[in-house]
Formats: sequence, structure tokens, C-alpha cells
Amino acid sequence: MSRILITGGAGFIGSHLCDRLLSEGNEVICLDNFFTGRRKNIEHNLSNGYFEFVRHDVTTPYMAEVDEIYNLACPASPIHYQYNPIKTVKTSVMGAINMLGLAKRVKAKILQASTSEVYGDPSVHPQPEEYWGNVNPIGIRSCYDEGKRCAETLFMDYHRQNGVKIKIIRIFNTYGPRMNPNDGRVVSNFIVQALRGEDITIFGSGEQTRSFQYVDDLLEGMIRMMKTDDSVIGPVNIGNPNEFTMLELATKVIELTGSKSKLIFQPLPSDDPRQRQPNISKAKELLDNWNPTIQLQEGLIKTIQYFKDELSI
Ligand code: NAD
Ligand code: UDP
Repeated sequence: MSRILITGGAGFIGSHLCDRLLSEGNEVICLDNFFTGRRKNIEHNLSNGYFEFVRHDVTTPYMAEVDEIYNLACPASPIHYQYNPIKTVKTSVMGAINMLGLAKRVKAKILQASTSEVYGDPSVHPQPEEYWGNVNPIGIRSCYDEGKRCAETLFMDYHRQNGVKIKIIRIFNTYGPRMNPNDGRVVSNFIVQALRGEDITIFGSGEQTRSFQYVDDLLEGMIRMMKTDDSVIGPVNIGNPNEFTMLELATKVIELTGSKSKLIFQPLPSDDPRQRQPNISKAKELLDNWNPTIQLQEGLIKTIQYFKDELSI
């Protein structure tokens, strides 16, 4: 049994990670400030003696004796990370410093939930980990992209300078149950709009692409990464290489929900990446042949059912 700290543990991915690590017999401390996370996501664990919830902001230091830290605290949806961009940078950068400081002090292993956004609007396609990215440092997405890039830098420097045992994964667009209906990301927006019979908002021409990963596949990759030996530090891409345009996604959501919603076109937000697809050969090689197993249709069906229950439709 390990004592594991999960920052951002009340969020979409973090709450699934809490469940998974508890079910594997670990003790879990879930730390969250409820900025985008919800009590509802973790309520079922509050009576579990191996689970502890701490309401705390990662921009201030936190101390606990733990064996492992998963650092997920950070708003991930463009609407939420752009709401208070200065706070987003602080969360990524000061959060990383505080959690790395803790890992150093208690000699814990620490995993950073980095992102495909470190590749920006990529000119190399698909994206391998060696690609340094094409990120605008002064745009509206920079608070998130550069915050996450700086966090990666801090992880590498704490490793080189202080010997902290680090793991960096770069997560590509992930979806699934427990996404907040108001999250603002494309999968939740399209499903909620389709279920309510509202217009489906396509930003730009809808020809931009993303590669969507179901949350269970991510959890498997994340946990395998944490279990690798200390020489494996990453970064490692974790995503599903199946690439879709936003028009294809909207069409699929309409088909699976049987919705009568119409597509409407709205302006493309600035710096919106045109394409995104992970090269996952490193993950396969280092993580015991890890490979995503849940393809878009199957994952969407599960997610649509979740939103029907959530919205009582
Ligand atoms: P989410 O918004 O549901 O979860 C983020 C959690 O962090 C929330 O519970 C929020 O309340 C918490 N949080 C935010 N600021 C905090 C602070 N200052 N102190 C403490 N807690 C704070 O988003 P998610 O999709 O679950 O993302 C989790 C992590 O994975 C994030 O770090 C995100 O950048 C990363 N990630 C997610 C995706 C994806 O597609 N879902 C892709 C790449 C990376
Ligand atoms: N998008 C869209 N309609 C929406 C929300 C998003 O067309 O209602 C587009 C967005 O412009 C982007 C893609 O979907 O090209 C993925 O957006 P999301 O915010 O989910 O993630 P990210 O851009 O960070 O990959």
C-alpha cells in the first residue's frame, strides 16, 4: 500500500484517478480548491477510511508524508484557464514548485500531468516527444501552454539539481464521464448541445483536428508511468492517435444521440491549434505495450449516457 497525493483530485481526471488508486488498495489524499472540480465527483469516497479530502490551493505550500504525488491541479478547459490567466500561470508554476519541494523533502515520486498544448500549433505531425513545439508566448492560450512548459522545466531541474524522482506525461484531449456540463471543451459542449436540442457550435470551419482519448485509457497509461523504474522520466505522450475533424466529431455526436440539432459556425478563437495527433511509440515501448483500447464511438456512448443522467434527459 502506498500513500498517494493527488492534486486536482476533485476534477474530471483526478476523481477517476482517486477511485482507481483506492481500488488498488492505496491510501489517497485528494487536494483541490474546487475551482473547476466538484464535491460530487468525490462524494462517494468521503466515508472511505483510506480517503482524505483536503481543500487547499496548490499555489501555497502543503506538507504531508506521502510516497507518490500526481500533480493534476490546473484548470484545463480554455474557458476556465482564460478566466483568470494570471492565476492559471501561478497554479502551474507555483503549484509545480510547491509539489516538487514536497517531493524533495519526503523523497516521493512525482508525476506531472503535462499536456499536448506544449506543442502549440504544431508544424510537425503527428507530434513526437522530441518536437519542441510552436507556442505563442503572448497569446490568450499562453497562460496555460507556457505555464505547463515552465512546469516541465521545473520538473527537469528539480530532477537534475536535487535528484527528485520525476515522471512527465503529455496528455492529449481526454473525455469521459464526470466532465462538467459547463466545462466548455468540445466533447462536453457537443454532447450537451445535442441532448438539449440546441445548436452545435463549430468554431471556425470545423476542419481543425484533435485526437480524443477516453479517460480509462489515460488512467492506465498514467499509473503504468508512475510504476516505471526511476530511470524513466519522460516526457511521454499519452493519447489516442485516432484523429478527427470537429465536423466529424459533431456528426458522430448527432448520430449517436439521435439529435435534431443543427450545426452553427462561430469565429475560431485565436491561436487555436489546427491539428493534433500523438505519436505514442514511446508510451508503447516504455509502458509495457500500453495502447488505447476504447475508440471514439464506444467512449462517446458511455459519455452520452453519463450526460443524460447528469442532465436528467
Ligand atoms: P479539471 O478542470 O476537471 O480538473 C482540474 C482540477 O484542478 C479541478 O478539480 C480544479 O478544481 C483543480 N484546481 C485548479 N486550480 C487549482 C489550485 N490552484 N489548487 C488546487 N486545485 C486546483 O480538468 P481535467 O481535464 O481533469 O485536467 C486535469 C489535469 O490534466 C490538468 O492539469 C490538465 O492540464 C491536464 N490535462 C488534461 C487534458 C484533458 O484533455 N482532459 C489534456 C491535457 C492535460
Ligand atoms: N471547439 C468547437 N466548438 C466548441 C468548443 C470547441 O468547435 O463548442 C473546437 C475548438 O475551437 C478546438 C477544438 O474544438 O479547435 C478542441 O477544443 P477544446 O477546447 O476541447 O480543446 P483544445 O483546443 O484545448 O484542444
